[in-house]
Formats: sequence, structure tokens, C-alpha cells
Amino acid sequence: MHISIAGAGIAGLASAIALSQNGHSVSVFEQAARLEAIGAGLQLGPNAVRVLENLGVWSELEAQCCAPDRIRICDAISGRQLSELDLGDSFTRKFGSPYRVAHRADLINALAQSASRIADITIVNDCRITGLEPGASTCVKTLSGEAHETDLVVAADGIRSQLRAHIGLENQPRLSGETLYRALAPASDLPAGLDPDAVYLWLAPGAHVVHYRVSGGRRLNIVASIEQPADQTGWNNIASRGDVLAALPGAASALRDLLSAPASWLAWTGADLDPFTSWSRDNCVLVGDAAHASLPYLAQGAAMALEDAECLAACIGDGSGDLTAALVRYESRRQPRTARIIEESRRNAGIYHMRGPKAQARNLALRFMPGSMQMQRLAWIYASPPDNGSPR
Ligand SMILES: Cc1cc2nc3c(=O)[nH]c(=O)nc-3n(C[C@H](O)[C@H](O)[C@H](O)COP(=O)(O)OP(=O)(O)OC[C@H]3O[C@@H](n4cnc5c(N)ncnc54)[C@H](O)[C@@H]3O)c2cc1C
Repeated sequence: MHISIAGAGIAGLASAIALSQNGHSVSVFEQAARLEAIGAGLQLGPNAVRVLENLGVWSELEAQCCAPDRIRICDAISGRQLSELDLGDSFTRKFGSPYRVAHRADLINALAQSASRIADITIVNDCRITGLEPGASTCVKTLSGEAHETDLVVAADGIRSQLRAHIGLENQPRLSGETLYRALAPASDLPAGLDPDAVYLWLAPGAHVVHYRVSGGRRLNIVASIEQPADQTGWNNIASRGDVLAALPGAASALRDLLSAPASWLAWTGADLDPFTSWSRDNCVLVGDAAHASLPYLAQGAAMALEDAECLAACIGDGSGDLTAALVRYESRRQPRTARIIEESRRNAGIYHMRGPKAQARNLALRFMPGSMQMQRLAWIYASPPDNGSPR
């Protein structure tokens, strides 16, 4: 088959590689003029690493990743550690692949490099898909007025997908009432006393902060999620250190020093999609955030996009079967898992941002529940879904 993909993000590039491995020729249309180094850190649980290994992308990315050995959950006000979750060797043995963190740009580059070595994949930059005409042979239309005939359209155009509306799905992003501030700083800016090999999660009333090293250990990625309603569409809205510090009054000195380190901050508005069941119409199908954007509070946005790519390719196979049935199979395998990610990410926002007595009760529970038990509650995420098409 010839397959057209709208969007060269993680879902689009991974889908291109997975589908080409089944013998399809793929054109990927990306609206940006070039693959830009935007975005910040992404966490790659073993379920994400496993797909990257299967796609042959992992060797391209591994050296740029960092290998945290634990997650440290701390009270942002007292500075006290509440809990510690192991990500070391026994975690890797349990789930079969390691836990890694990377800069989004490094993951995009690794996917793009791998795709560029596959003759059946063409990536067209500076090309926005503006419409499509479904039919026996679907036609995608670009902003410059070109039309491309294709057997299947994969809409990998993100949370604000335009193609979703073109295929008659009117689902709109739901604003979460949070602003997410992100910054990068040299790794040497990590305040003394903080563990360079950990992923940190600091919990504050109405806010939380996550940080870890990226870019082979050279830089620190910091994201502060703050209950602060906004409605900005882009990923790169200019923010300031003052915005972040003002939202975390009374932060422990180590956290305050950390948040004071970056020279510049960017912000985006927290948003996700209410789960919906139908992801395809005619010869068009949604993948990644276009189908099931979640808040980043389980750190599974990139992983779900990668799993979609693997599952879609497994369901379509070499294309000799009934395409409509293959697309229905894909959405029925993916929808329950991604809906649970959306729902549990929302739940985490409520837990992370608790105030007063509820926060005290949460902190007590975190202190007394062993890390291994807390990790067990996440095992359904990190184990590969059995019917996703993964060879192992
Ligand atoms: C610029 C950017 C920065 C991000 N930064 C972060 C971050 O710091 N932290 C985080 O947790 N998540 C970030 N994300 C989101 C994260 O990448 C996704 O949640 C996850 O990886 C799923 O990716 P996706 O491929 O489904 O969607 P996205 O990553 O949103 O990719 C969609 C792609 O489609 C392209 N596109 C959109 N419409 C069209 C069209 N009509 N025609 C052609 N191309 C189109 C976009 O330019 C983009 O490249 C970012 C996304 C983007 C686009």
C-alpha cells in the first residue's frame, strides 16, 4: 500500500518506520520547515524502550539518554523525601527493558535518522495537510494546493489535530486548569545535596515539579506544573523564573535554588482529550496525541505514541487483508489502555496537588508504603500489552 502520514512527531515517524517494515511505502508530511529541537525531556519507560528496540531506533538514541536509578518523591515545602522507587537492575529484569529519559529533540532526531535510511519512507517538510477526500483512493491536500492519492491516511498531527475534524470527529482538547513551565539548565546547576541520577518529583499544594538529567547527562530538564488556568495553543510560550517562583512560595531551599537556575522558561497549557472510541473513518486513522492526548502525569505520551505505531503496523500487516477490519482491530486494542492512561494521569494531578489534611494523609501513605508496592501499581503500564504486536 501507499500510506500518507500527517505529522512527523513521535507518532508519525514511528508509524512510518513500523509500516515500512511491513513492505508499505510511506510519505510523511510535516508542517514545520525542519525538524526543530523543540520540547524538553520525555520519560521512556520500558514499554517505550521496547518499541524503539523493535523498530531498530534504540541504538541511534541510547547514547543520548540518561539512566536514572530511582524516582525520589519529596515534599516541596519541607524538602523531606517521602518515597523512593527503584529503577535499577531489578526493575530492568522485571520489565525486560530499561527506564530511560531523553530530550524530545534527541528522540525525534533518532526516529528521523532511522527513517531517512529506509528507502520506502519520504519525509516532506514545510508541507501542511489541509484536507482530505475519502474514497476508494483517498486524497490528501496540502496548503500549497497539491493533492496526493493514497491508500491510507494516518493522522499523527497532535492534540489539536485538524484531520480529526476532517474525518468527522469533533473532539476538542479539554483544558486541565494547569500551566506547565519547562526549562533546561546545565547539569552543573543541580543544587548540592540533590541526587544527579534520580528523577525527582516534588509535591506542593496546587503544584508539582519534576526534574532529571537529559542530553547524555549534560543538561537538566525541569518541568513545573502549576494550577493556573490558561488557554495558549503553542508549546513555546515565553515565561519567566518569577512566574514559577511566585507559584511556589515557601519552597524548600534546594528546590528554590533549582528553580532559580535556568535563565529562561517556556510554558504550555495543560490539556488532554476525553477518551473516545472511534479513531478511524473510511481510510483514515488517528495515532498518538490526535487519538488520545493525556496530561503528562504518568509520563506516557511518547510511549503511547510508540505503542500505537507498533500496533497499527501489526494490525495492517502486509495490507492483503480487509483494511477497515484492521483499523477497527487497532482501535479496539489501543483504546482501553490509552483511556486508562488519560484517566489515571488526571487522577495523579489531583493527588500530586493535594492541600492541607489530604496532603498530610498522602504524605503519610507515601512514607509508609514500600516503594516496591507503589511500583507494582504501575506494572500494567511498563509491561507490554500482550496483543500490541510486539515480538516479545
Ligand atoms: C513542538 C512540540 C514540543 C513538545 N514538547 C513537549 C514537552 O516538552 N514535554 C512533553 O511532555 N510533551 C511535549 N510535546 C508533546 C509530545 O511530543 C507528545 O505528547 C507525544 O510525543 C505524542 O506525540 P505525537 O507525535 O502524537 O504528537 P506531536 O508531538 O504533537 O506531533 C505532531 C506533529 O504533527 C505536526 N502537524 C500538526 N498538524 C499538521 C498538519 N496539518 N500537517 C502536517 N503536520 C502537522 C506538528 O508540527 C508535529 O510535528 C511536544 C510536542 C510538540 C509538537
